[in-house]
Amino acid sequence: MKYVPDATADRQFESDNTVDRVGVDGLLSELDEYAVEQALQLREKREGEEIEITALTVGPEKAVDAIRKALQMGADKGVHVVDDAIAGSDSVATSLVLAKAIEKISAEKKVDLVMSGMASTDASMSVVPAMLAERLDLPQVTFASVVESQGEVFRVRRDGDSATEIIEGRLPMVLSVTDQTGEARYPSFKGIMAAKKKPLETWSLSDIGVEADQVGLSASWTAVEGTEARPPRTQGEIVTDEDGSGAKALVDFLASKKFI
Ligand SMILES: Cc1cc2nc3c(=O)[nH]c(=O)nc-3n(C[C@H](O)[C@H](O)[C@H](O)COP(=O)(O)OP(=O)(O)OC[C@H]3O[C@@H](n4cnc5c(N)ncnc54)[C@H](O)[C@@H]3O)c2cc1C
Repeated sequence: MKYVPDATADRQFESDNTVDRVGVDGLLSELDEYAVEQALQLREKREGEEIEITALTVGPEKAVDAIRKALQMGADKGVHVVDDAIAGSDSVATSLVLAKAIEKISAEKKVDLVMSGMASTDASMSVVPAMLAERLDLPQVTFASVVESQGEVFRVRRDGDSATEIIEGRLPMVLSVTDQTGEARYPSFKGIMAAKKKPLETWSLSDIGVEADQVGLSASWTAVEGTEARPPRTQGEIVTDEDGSGAKALVDFLASKKFI
């Protein structure tokens, strides 16, 4: 799950066109809250099984806040990968770090299900889950709007623009979920207090066996070349219908914009 700049805050870019992720307030990407919620619901439905939920994030120091939120919601432990060399990484590099971290988590306790949001609310690439599946050599189902599980089998509904698909997959797998899966819970006071005692590990690149030159802006396949603020809205044109010509003026305006 990803820590993203708060969309309501004043967001800035650095001089190299990278997003300023340090000087701005951030939060757990809203779409990732649905993934946390689904993981918690899954565990609740499969009572009696030993299911551990690890919240993993890759991001700067403050990204730990995203993990804290997931722990407050009910996740069991947190892993934060933080290293100066990661700054500026694109999706390809980010997915490498995430995959290596998941492999390390799995070495201690096998990871059966990697769950993520459908997209981050900042970059919205929607590609990290697919890249993770490729790197981890796992099957993937993305954009799930309903998730049901029975044993190793997962039945997932995917709603497209013109059709709905029902897909079945087997664990281990990568699954990304949409905001249709159900409202994410708010952390309770009990959850907030309990989260303070939950294990939270901080790993650097060397902990997960990634070299600094495999990540960061220089190792990324894509980089932002330039950014421009959207021009402020200009005042709209007001048509005053004084002599009955208002309707025609409106039609002419819409036609000039090719709306009709
Ligand atoms: C430390 C850091 C510095 C960055 N610096 C820059 C920068 O300078 N310029 C720039 O353009 N981009 C930067 N990025 C953004 C980076 O390019 C994106 O994280 C990457 O492209 C993934 O794309 P996305 O966020 O659109 O993910 P999507 O593909 O939209 O994400 C889908 C899902 O994957 C998971 N996911 C994605 N990223 C992470 C993550 N980091 N940790 C945990 N889960 C994740 C989430 O569940 C998310 O909902 C940085 C990212 C990090 C972590």
